[in-house]
Amino acid sequence: MKAHFFVSLAALLAPPLMASEPVMFCERPLVAQPVAKNTWMVEGLKEELSASNCGHIGNQAFIATPSGVILIDSGSSPHFGEALKTLIAQHSSQPVRWVLNTHHHPDHFFGNAAFDEAQHLTLTTTRALMARDRDALIDNVERLTGRSLERSLIALPDAIEAGDITLGSYPLTLYAMGGHSGGDLVIMDHATGVLFLGDMGFYQRTAATAHTPGLQQWLEELSDLRALDARIAVPGHGPSAPSDTVLEQTAHYLTWLDQRLSDVASEGLGANHALTIELPDAFSTMALTEYEYTRSVMQLYPRYEARLLWGAPH
Ligand SMILES: [Zn+2]
Repeated sequence: MKAHFFVSLAALLAPPLMASEPVMFCERPLVAQPVAKNTWMVEGLKEELSASNCGHIGNQAFIATPSGVILIDSGSSPHFGEALKTLIAQHSSQPVRWVLNTHHHPDHFFGNAAFDEAQHLTLTTTRALMARDRDALIDNVERLTGRSLERSLIALPDAIEAGDITLGSYPLTLYAMGGHSGGDLVIMDHATGVLFLGDMGFYQRTAATAHTPGLQQWLEELSDLRALDARIAVPGHGPSAPSDTVLEQTAHYLTWLDQRLSDVASEGLGANHALTIELPDAFSTMALTEYEYTRSVMQLYPRYEARLLWGAPH
C-alpha cells in the first residue's frame, strides 16, 4: 500500500514529460502558438531558405478535432515534418489524419512524408504545379539549405475541389485562388473564425511574387477574402493577427508595388530605375522588403514593359 502511494505521488509530481520537453529543430525550439480553440500555428523564421534556418521559413497550422488532427502545410523537408509531428503530439493525443497543402512552394509541402498515415490533399491546380516544378524545387531547397532531400519522399498530395468539406466530423470551407502561386488554397474555419491564408497573405514579412499570374488578380482575391469577415488570419509567413490587418498589409504592399512598376514602365525608365526607388516607411516593419522588392522588379518588370509596349496582359 505504502509502495503504491509513493509510485502515485511520484507520478503526480513528475512534470508532464511531453509538454515540458521542447521540440528542437535546427537548434531552436519549435513552438506551437495557440490561435483559437484547439488551433495552433507554428511560425517560420522571417527569412529566405538558408543553411542557418534549415528551411524553416514557412508557417504551419493544426486543428485538433475529435477524429484526428488537421495539419495545414508541412514545412520544407521530411526531417522538419518529423519535428512538427512530435510537437503536434504534445497538443493532441490524436494522430494527424489530414494534411492540407496550400500551394506548391517547397516550404509548404516537402514535410508531408512525416505524416504518411494521413491523407494529403490539395487543389487540382496546385497538384499540377507541384508535378511540374517538384524536381526544380528539390534542387533549389538542397542548394539553399545545403541539406539533401530524399527525392522519393517528396510525393504529391491527392486533389480535392474547393467548397465545403467535412474531415471526420469537422467542417471547413476551401477556396480556390491563384494570386500568389497560380494555385492557392485558402481555408476558412467557420467554427473558430480562423482564416488560413497560405501565401495569399504575408504579415510583417514582404510578399514573394515569383509565381504570381498578376498582382491585379492577387489584389482582387484579397478583397474577396476580406469579405469573409474572418476573425483572425494565419498567413503563410509572419505572425497571425486580426484578418483585416493581415489582408490590409499584404494588399497595401502589392498595390504599391503594382503602381510603382506601372509608373516606371510608363515613364520608360527601365528596371534599373525601378531598383533605385526608395521603399516607403510604411513597410519598414516588414522583413525582407528590399530583398523581395528587388526580386519582384526582376521578375515582374518585363511584364509591365510588355503590357505598355504591346498591350500584353500582365
Ligand atoms: Zn511560403
